[in-house]
Amino acid sequence: MNTANIVGNDRIPAIEGRELQVLDPATDELVATVPDSGPEETRRAIDAAASAFEQWRLVPPSERAEVLLTFADALKTDRERLASILTREQGKPLAESRAEIDYAASFLPVAAEAGVEILEERVDIPGKDVRVLQRPVGVTAAITPWNFPIAMLAKKTAPAMAAGCVQVIKPAEQTPLSGIAFVELGLEAGIPPGVLNVVTGTPGPIGDALLADSRVRKISFTGSTEVGRHLMRGGAENLLRLSLELGGHAPMIVFEDADLDRAIEVAMKAKFRNAGQTCISPNRFLVHHRLHDAFVERLADAASNLVSGRGDRDGVDLGPLIDDVAVAKVFDHIDDALARGAEIASGGGRRNPPGLTDRFPEPTVLLNTGPGMRCWHEETFGPVCPVRSFTDDEEAIELANRSDHGLAGYAVTDDPVRIERIARDLQAGIIGVNDGAPAVASVPFGGIRHSGFGREGGRWGVLEHLETITVSRIP
Ligand code: NAD
Repeated sequence: MNTANIVGNDRIPAIEGRELQVLDPATDELVATVPDSGPEETRRAIDAAASAFEQWRLVPPSERAEVLLTFADALKTDRERLASILTREQGKPLAESRAEIDYAASFLPVAAEAGVEILEERVDIPGKDVRVLQRPVGVTAAITPWNFPIAMLAKKTAPAMAAGCVQVIKPAEQTPLSGIAFVELGLEAGIPPGVLNVVTGTPGPIGDALLADSRVRKISFTGSTEVGRHLMRGGAENLLRLSLELGGHAPMIVFEDADLDRAIEVAMKAKFRNAGQTCISPNRFLVHHRLHDAFVERLADAASNLVSGRGDRDGVDLGPLIDDVAVAKVFDHIDDALARGAEIASGGGRRNPPGLTDRFPEPTVLLNTGPGMRCWHEETFGPVCPVRSFTDDEEAIELANRSDHGLAGYAVTDDPVRIERIARDLQAGIIGVNDGAPAVASVPFGGIRHSGFGREGGRWGVLEHLETITVSRIP
């Protein structure tokens, strides 16, 4: 695979010849090297994007939509190859990688349709002809994380292109190959050169170059709250538009009326995808005291039965965590919880599959957890389930909202009053009621509070890439 940067029509290495290694997190084998680019390569990518914008913005939305649909077909046709690249550099089981490619592809038709429906409106003012138009914001940048390297990119790229914008993409340094392969395929499918560009490398210099260039009008970022703040500060000078999809700390409330089978199904689905390295994964399980013991027993049992191993092996449920820092954080959180009075219901150790790295923590269920423990405030981003029992709905909602984050939240209940209460009061941008996978391409996705702002998905994602312009004419 050609791993050079994609800049307009060209494939360019890092100008100073520096490279970054991409390692397989399951084995530490070298998968590839990619350019360790800096400000100059970033500037060239912005040049290519700015020049492509002058044509792309004038392409009728219906023609842009055709290109997006062709790209979606290409992703589905090439799913196996992309899934194996994704699993190799990221670690997740192949079945999850395949599902990620399908999820990524699903953003393209949704954005294509929303792009075609961008309407010009008229406002009725006596004596005037007033039109309200939507224009693409221009050159944008996408900065994506390693946990869903293709899906997070498609979420940004599809609405940007549908709106008539162009993009400079900086994939996460752990998983650049997926981003390169995604864009390569898009260009083969007919996206004009320069509409999507990829620059790989250590993040600081590339990010700073994007922030400093006044031609970049918007950055869509998915990643940590800390880097989101950095981009917001750095974007102030150019009054940059931002969409910040930041960290989460999702609560899952199992109400008194919950069906236990369903509660376990939702918990397993939401928690263990990508070995818990998912921003909308539940970080706190609040369980009504009457269901608590049975819930814990069954969750511990189901979690213990998950199989760890290389993502490309059949029957594997949990791949490795992305790196040693991620593993250390998981054990820090477990140790901290135990030191503050929590108990282990299952797991707590390492799996160490033979011949692989030691990045396979056991799926772990912790009892008697609560505020004051690190796992209650920081994203663990691993296969750890902190559980706490509650006695009434007030207490559950109060505990659920005790977080600065507000990305996702879950509830298991069929009680209409509880469902309305959750919809009204739970501090989260995405709420799953009996639904462990609430994120689909046609609905808005994004957080509130320290989980950021801006929405991806559906027409909401496209609207984020448009400027609203008023043209007032006196006839
Ligand atoms: P991170 O913030 O360290 O990295 C995310 C991206 O930002 C990477 O591409 C990285 O290279 C880049 N980056 C880092 N420093 C930068 C800088 N100074 N300037 C510009 N770019 C910079 O996050 P991570 O630890 O790699 O990813 C996990 C985080 O992402 C978690 O907090 C998770 O919750 C969050 N996440 C959020 C969503 C969402 O939709 N809200 C989805 C997935 C992941």
